[in-house]
Amino acid sequence: RALAKAPEAPTLAPQPTEEATLLAEVPQLKARLLANENPFGPSEKAKQAMLDAVATSYQYPMAYARELAQKIAAYEGVTPEHILLDAGSSPLLLAAAMHYGKQGGAIITGDPSYDDLPNKARHFNTPIIPVPLTADYKLDLDAMEKKVDGKTALLYICNPNNPTGTVLETAKLKAFCERVSKKAPVFVDEAYIDYLPDPQGTTLIDAVKKGQNVIVARTFSKLHGFAGLRVGYIVAQPETIKTLSNYVVGGMSISAPAIRAALVSYQDQVFLQDALKKTLASKQFLYETLRKEGYEHIPSFTNFVMFPLRMDSKRFVDEMMKRGVGVRHWQFASKEWCRVSIGRLDEMQAFADAFKQIS
Ligand code: PMP
Repeated sequence: RALAKAPEAPTLAPQPTEEATLLAEVPQLKARLLANENPFGPSEKAKQAMLDAVATSYQYPMAYARELAQKIAAYEGVTPEHILLDAGSSPLLLAAAMHYGKQGGAIITGDPSYDDLPNKARHFNTPIIPVPLTADYKLDLDAMEKKVDGKTALLYICNPNNPTGTVLETAKLKAFCERVSKKAPVFVDEAYIDYLPDPQGTTLIDAVKKGQNVIVARTFSKLHGFAGLRVGYIVAQPETIKTLSNYVVGGMSISAPAIRAALVSYQDQVFLQDALKKTLASKQFLYETLRKEGYEHIPSFTNFVMFPLRMDSKRFVDEMMKRGVGVRHWQFASKEWCRVSIGRLDEMQAFADAFKQIS
């Protein structure tokens, strides 16, 4: 007897973002400046740790995952129950999108801001409230707070903000979280916090420690240079961690070599400071290129820079791509924009050469 026809596959699987699609398609580039990766990493110590881990990689990685959670917890002054690890922060953003997206209330976010979490929540018919940035291209916390009501499902705060590279005043964000988290959970995405002068003084993990309903997301993909290795985590109240862990695999989804590399990279201050120094030098080179061509830019606190164009941004990106330089385009505040990631000096030179031909 023929088997009964299988039910239609559910169509709830989130679609890949524009960036994910682009990254799957990009050819070999002279300058890969489109995904805010850090070409100065991973560190030599991290690479050695991966090699050392290969021989025992027939073993499941849970013990190493626990060790990493313990190490992060000790460093941040929380318990391991406050931490959930996964393969990069994307699965954790997805977990939050799924959980908070089906509560019936809205998700409030910046416009523009990193759109992965709201876009995935859209799939659950979650209303999204995009709040335009202030005149200096920062998240408009006052306007976002005004949108909060009894049904708000989540506020998504990307700090520093992708794609503008701007950062909020710490005291202001802390006061905001203290007030607003009483009404709705606040998700603070700190993917780029390691690029700030004082990450420990800026992080909202402080609010988690005070018992507030705040979820902080971190990733090794940026300053640690682990985008291809996939290590990320969130810090939140233990009950929130328990809830969100129902939506992800957790530490077991990270390979043992990647976790062991993260264990040595986590506090490798020599490597981190060196990567920061190189990023800053490349950023100065880019600023100089833009200045010479008479272009302005938004002052950046991250490893990417946003600047307004004088032409259609999509055409600009296509022309740059033809010359082997990958960058991203945006439209907001009635302007056409380009976002350039900070790469090696030779990549910034390739950007400068192509830019002079097009601009
Ligand atoms: N948050 C922000 C703000 C990002 O820019 C990115 C990567 N582009 C991520 C999260 C996700 O990165 P990953 O999954 O590599 O941790």
